[in-house]
Amino acid sequence: MTVALLSAALDAWSVLMPVACAGCGADDRALCAACRPGLRATLHRQPLPDGTALVSALRYEGVVRRTILAFKEQGRTDVSRPLAAAFSSAIRAAAAGRVELVSIPPSHAGVRRRGYDPVRLLLRRAGLPRPSPVLSSTHARARQKTLGREQRGRNLAGSMAAKGTLAGRRFLLVDDVATTGATLMEAARALREGGAEVVAAASLAFTPKHFGDS
Ligand SMILES: [Zn+2]
Repeated sequence: MTVALLSAALDAWSVLMPVACAGCGADDRALCAACRPGLRATLHRQPLPDGTALVSALRYEGVVRRTILAFKEQGRTDVSRPLAAAFSSAIRAAAAGRVELVSIPPSHAGVRRRGYDPVRLLLRRAGLPRPSPVLSSTHARARQKTLGREQRGRNLAGSMAAKGTLAGRRFLLVDDVATTGATLMEAARALREGGAEVVAAASLAFTPKHFGDS
C-alpha cells in the first residue's frame, strides 16, 4: 500500500472509530482542543556544535513528545496535519533562497516496522517537495535511541555518504526530532564532503535537555 493510500485509510478509520487524543489520551478526536495549541510552532534557533544553524518548531516534551511518538511509533497518521504545519514553519524559516530539501536516509528496518517514512509523510502533508535522494547510509546504524551522546557520535561517524558530486547545489537538511544533533551533523558532513553547500537544518522538534535550552 502506498503512503497516501495508507494515510487516507487511517483517516477514514478514525472518522468511524472513537479515537483517543494523541497528546493526552482523552476520548476525543485525533488531537483534543486542549492539546492542539501545544503543537503550534514556536521557532527555536540554535547552532549545532559544528556551527550549522538549526531551526526547530517545537520542544520535544509533554504533549509534543507524546503526539510525535504516537505519530511515529503507533501508526497515528491522523495527527500528521498539525505536525506538518509546524514542520513547514521551521523549514520555511530555515530556508534561505532556493534550496533542495534533504532528509536522513531512513533505516530499512524502521520503514518496515512502521509502513511509512515519517519525515516524507510530513513533507507531503505540508505540500513541500520530496527530499532529494542524495545521501546514502554506508553501514547499518544501531538505533540511536538506545545510545548516549558520545556513543551516538561514534555510531554515526562516516555512516553516510553523498551519492556522486553535489558541487553547486544548496541543501536544507530536514529531520523530525533533533536529539543531540549528531545525526544532522553527520548528514551535513557527508553533503559538504560531496561538494554541496548546507544552508541550515530544520527539525520538527528538538530535545531541550541535550541542547541545554531552558
Ligand atoms: Zn489532548
